[in-house]
Amino acid sequence: MADSSVADVDAQALLDEANSTSDAQGEPKFTLELDQDQKDIKEWVHGFAEGVVRPAAEEWDEREETPWPVIQEAAKIGLYSFEAVGQFWADETGLTLPIANEELFWGDAGIGMAIMGTTLAVAAIFGQGTPEQMGEWIPQCYGDADDVKLGAFCASEPDAGSDVSGIRTSAKYDEAKDEWVLNGQKAWATNGGIANVHVVIASVDRELGSRGHAAFVIPPNTPGCEQGAKVKKHGLRASHTADVHLDDCRVPGSCLLGGKEKLDERLARVREGKKAKSQAAMQTFEASRPVVGAQALGVARAAYEYALDYAKERRQFGRAIVENQSIAFDLANMKLEIDAARLLVWRAAWMGRQGHKFENAEGSMSKLKAGEVAVWVTERAIQILGGNGYTREFPVERMHRDSKIYTIFEGTSEIQQLVISRAISGFHIK
Ligand SMILES: Cc1cc2nc3c(=O)[nH]c(=O)nc-3n(C[C@H](O)[C@H](O)[C@H](O)COP(=O)(O)OP(=O)(O)OC[C@H]3O[C@@H](n4cnc5c(N)ncnc54)[C@H](O)[C@@H]3O)c2cc1C
Repeated sequence: MADSSVADVDAQALLDEANSTSDAQGEPKFTLELDQDQKDIKEWVHGFAEGVVRPAAEEWDEREETPWPVIQEAAKIGLYSFEAVGQFWADETGLTLPIANEELFWGDAGIGMAIMGTTLAVAAIFGQGTPEQMGEWIPQCYGDADDVKLGAFCASEPDAGSDVSGIRTSAKYDEAKDEWVLNGQKAWATNGGIANVHVVIASVDRELGSRGHAAFVIPPNTPGCEQGAKVKKHGLRASHTADVHLDDCRVPGSCLLGGKEKLDERLARVREGKKAKSQAAMQTFEASRPVVGAQALGVARAAYEYALDYAKERRQFGRAIVENQSIAFDLANMKLEIDAARLLVWRAAWMGRQGHKFENAEGSMSKLKAGEVAVWVTERAIQILGGNGYTREFPVERMHRDSKIYTIFEGTSEIQQLVISRAISGFHIK
């Protein structure tokens, strides 16, 4: 187990840094000009994506297995670590996290998710845990370069996808033993069952719907927490996705993120009919969506670049196919859409980091646009490669399969539209 006292200090320092957005000049201005730190991180992640991730992409997509050796390489250079994610996140402009994600997923989305999937669990612990819980559990999500570990975040269930208020997994408190007992079935968990640490969203009071939910850490090797069926997927196949079964799974009272006192206060407030903090939760989602959008951008940019090079090389009718206006215009529009999506992603990332209110659901806008752009651009890339694009000999076929997830997870495109339409209209659109 990692030295929790050291990790404790790191988590507290990051928390303090995150909470102080102001400096002598006030909040940083939004600028498209990257500073030297941002450029260095971009180059560093790009180098790893190009040299290590890309060459391994086809193999792990075909194997449909977690690419442990690649994750280990990422851990060796410090990219797979809380320190790296914390450093990306601490950038007060908010741009480093999306930039790093775009570069990594430019290498390959399946491997990218195998490396970044842990951050879903880490973000929950970081967002909801006490400094002690952060210090104890975050290092255990990563392990170290010699013994790499994973984290999993389990919210979705067979009957609770877009509608998380339908979560049925229950958590009952056993006061005599100061333990929580969890029962239920989680679906679609990235790293589910193979993770060292699982973060599970469970209902402590079904009558309160999503306001009765709480997040629990399931420590490594806890009896009653088992992997269910592994999902065979269309894309993102190097990333493990599985059901997780919780069967009288007992965890210590200290595994409730944020602690029992805070939960009891919140439940009492809700039962008294006072306003829950759903607005705060919504703002948190808005802030995390640009990162997912940035991953989609990485896939789109990779496919666009491949198609552009191919179109300049491939000759038909005595000329390069790019010399045909229809192909050249497609490429122009691909570039246009990617750059437009990136502007939305960076705007939302900057807003999120400054603590601005997302008046028009700008975070949802960024994820919606980037996800749809990724699907469209990768489909066009296949078209530009013709028959070759349709084969597994060329990477755009894999990129197209991978891109589709970005209109589905972390809120489907329709759910993003729902959030945006409610924000702009003030009506409770259904
Ligand atoms: C590869 C992969 C990895 C995942 N990883 C995780 C993970 O790590 N942890 C986790 O908790 N979950 C994870 N998920 C689950 C993911 O978040 C859900 O799949 C997603 O939220 C959609 O839920 P659903 O699949 O149940 O679809 P549904 O909610 O059943 O939606 C089906 C369709 O109905 C539409 N729809 C639903 N409600 C409305 C509405 N009100 N208005 C208009 N249209 C609507 C949807 O947009 C969609 O098109 C993952 C999923 C996949 C595929």
